[in-house]
Amino acid sequence: MRTVAYYRSSTNLQEHSVEMQKTMAFKTAREKLLVIEDQYPDPFISARQVTMKDRPELKRLMDDIKKGRVQNLLVYKRDRLARLATEYMHIYRFLKEHQVNVIFTADNEHPLSYTAVGEFFEVLMAGVIQREGEQIAKRIRDSKISKFLAKQYAGKVPFGYHINKHVKENEVQERIVQTPGDIEIARELYDLVLSQHFESLNEIKKYFDRQELSRKVVKKGQVVKERNWEVADIYNILSNPLYMGKHIMTFEGAGEFEATYEGIAIVTVEEWEKVQELLPNMITKRERDKEKIVYHMEGLLFCSVCKEPLIAKDRMRQGVNVGMYECTHEAHNCKVRQEHVETLVLERAKTFFSTMVMANINDLIERYRSTNAERLQRQIKTLSSEIEERKNQMVKRADQYLRTSDTSKKGELTDKLLKLYEQTSTVQKEYDAFIDLLAEVEALSARPKQLADNLAEFLETMQEREPDEIRLLFRDIVACVDVSPKCIDITFKHPYVVSKDVLTDVAT
Ligand SMILES: [Zn+2]
Repeated sequence: MRTVAYYRSSTNLQEHSVEMQKTMAFKTAREKLLVIEDQYPDPFISARQVTMKDRPELKRLMDDIKKGRVQNLLVYKRDRLARLATEYMHIYRFLKEHQVNVIFTADNEHPLSYTAVGEFFEVLMAGVIQREGEQIAKRIRDSKISKFLAKQYAGKVPFGYHINKHVKENEVQERIVQTPGDIEIARELYDLVLSQHFESLNEIKKYFDRQELSRKVVKKGQVVKERNWEVADIYNILSNPLYMGKHIMTFEGAGEFEATYEGIAIVTVEEWEKVQELLPNMITKRERDKEKIVYHMEGLLFCSVCKEPLIAKDRMRQGVNVGMYECTHEAHNCKVRQEHVETLVLERAKTFFSTMVMANINDLIERYRSTNAERLQRQIKTLSSEIEERKNQMVKRADQYLRTSDTSKKGELTDKLLKLYEQTSTVQKEYDAFIDLLAEVEALSARPKQLADNLAEFLETMQEREPDEIRLLFRDIVACVDVSPKCIDITFKHPYVVSKDVLTDVAT
């Protein structure tokens, strides 16, 4: 039977390094007159992303415990064992089963015990550990964003650039710099497009082939092979904003960020934008011909006679393929051209939403917002005192548990405690949902202006949008469109109506 120590550090946090945990373990061992006979370090492993099974030293530790070789286990804190609540409870029960004496080496870490109340406490702690892990993940993401904004390039480096490492004030800094030889080729590509002598990217590819210009494939600073230029390579270079010095990146859950790099641009913003304008027409004609008519408003148009949705249909008109929305009942004579109705709706939407901003409808929305916000706040208050009440009850029961020596009573109290814990988390979830809802309602007054602004921007860049994006936009702004042989009635999703939807959810 031995004393051992387990350490784990995740990739991004210095303060919990394996070295520090080791120091703490030896300090505690000295104090308790124990001798550490084996150590199990899992460095640079995020317990949020890597499951228990993939932590080699944890696995070895658990194998040794199974073989009965471990009596005392020194660990810095609970969160070193696991970050996910379920994994934590799994490890806790495993340690309990083998009666391993766990000693935490961090100050203030509540001791681990295998009594029923102890186990109940661990259930609570498992939740806390997981939540902390999530917050740390968010902090790391935020620090990635701030690094990004501080112009420390992250991600795949495009053709013509490489990363230059240098040490400044004892810190390794990574800078993106031009690769001589390659960067001139990238600049030539932009010049070729701007000259407008080439009709397609494929022609540029052939031009490069004729010059026997090859594309070097570099891995870890070494040219691993050379091959012909492909249309996709050319397209990637011409559409990447880094060539005008801008790096645009999307961070999960936080949206899009832009950083500008000095001294790496090879084209001006104007040149880059001109190329973006020319690019769509330089994708080979054959590919363009294959393009089908895209129906962006399917499911939003209805026949005014039978109220059924109109069906999308390709029709031949004077030898040209034309997109139509039609009622399946031919007698209703209810049909409209796809191009015509979609343009009309967008035009009307633009006017509608900007008029709404002008018409000071904000007063109305504000009144609506404040009454609903009040209602929600009342609900939140009730729930929060309910949570408080349950927590008090838990403390009371735990106290009763500690005072009684009657085993059957202890079992009964444990059941009650666990039930209370479950109830509290249910109320907590409800509470969180109301908080989210309140934020939505609070954001309401900004909605018409936002919609008008977004719409104006969207309409300007319509050509570059993906069909799915356009479909989503229609669903965002249009409630329904009634089509009769004589007229088209558009009902927009009014922010007022949208918020009413939100509140029906609250009432139920
Ligand atoms: Zn009909």
